[in-house]
Amino acid sequence: MRAVAFTVDVDRDVNLACKGEICSISNGGKYPRFDSSARGLELMAGLMEEIGIRGTFFWEGRTAEVLLDRMDLKDIMRHQEVALHGYDHEDFTGKETGLPLDLGSTKTVLDKGTAALDRAFGKGERGFRAPYQRVTDILLEELHAREFLYDSSDTVELVDGKVRPYRNKNGLPEIPVCWSRDGRGKRIVSYLWPYHEGKRRITDYLDLVDGFQEGLLVIATHSWHPVESYCSGIRTIEDVNKEMNDLRTLLEHVESSGCELVSIAEHLRREDAL
Ligand SMILES: [Zn+2]
Repeated sequence: MRAVAFTVDVDRDVNLACKGEICSISNGGKYPRFDSSARGLELMAGLMEEIGIRGTFFWEGRTAEVLLDRMDLKDIMRHQEVALHGYDHEDFTGKETGLPLDLGSTKTVLDKGTAALDRAFGKGERGFRAPYQRVTDILLEELHAREFLYDSSDTVELVDGKVRPYRNKNGLPEIPVCWSRDGRGKRIVSYLWPYHEGKRRITDYLDLVDGFQEGLLVIATHSWHPVESYCSGIRTIEDVNKEMNDLRTLLEHVESSGCELVSIAEHLRREDAL
């Protein structure tokens, strides 16, 4: 089986962790912004609707609360999988904030994030991806205790063209992003940040898809990234259109190369997924 999950983290624009603060800010200011995320969300969900594919959207709780006042989120997500991505884009490990989250704080984040998504989308079983893909044992244990469907924060190597979900030590399914080597031997991750920042071409990711032979390949990006760049700020309309055309090229390549585009939850329901 060659399945591909296209995943989108829907979080505050160009998020950054700050020393001594649990709550992330947006690049270039002191507070979080959500405009680029909102615009990119509409574009991406629209593209996927048009092509007819189901993706997985990892929602930060606060972003869902803010965007709920501006957009019909339930309608935008009606064919998509909704999963959780923290509440205020917390760095659970404290790597950059200096504030690792203990059990009490971890529970609070999951409570608030889940409540925000319940309000926006209705109750449901969900998966999880940690902000900055940084997890702690406390977090993974708590996700398992709360019967989250899976975590998708790890990055593993694509070995002999294969990558697949596995169970972590407490039994929670882990759905990793992967990395491989490009034709020049340089590491490439199935997370599109370098593409959006002009460090890689979309064709590099078409090659990555071609090198994938078996399992579940998880491709990851952010809703704000086709609209705003970390290095160069808000994009021009021409630049946004180019980004969206490239994403279309990638998704169409995935389909035409014989891979099935699936949501993560859908893939996990299959007998041979794990
Ligand atoms: Zn994020």
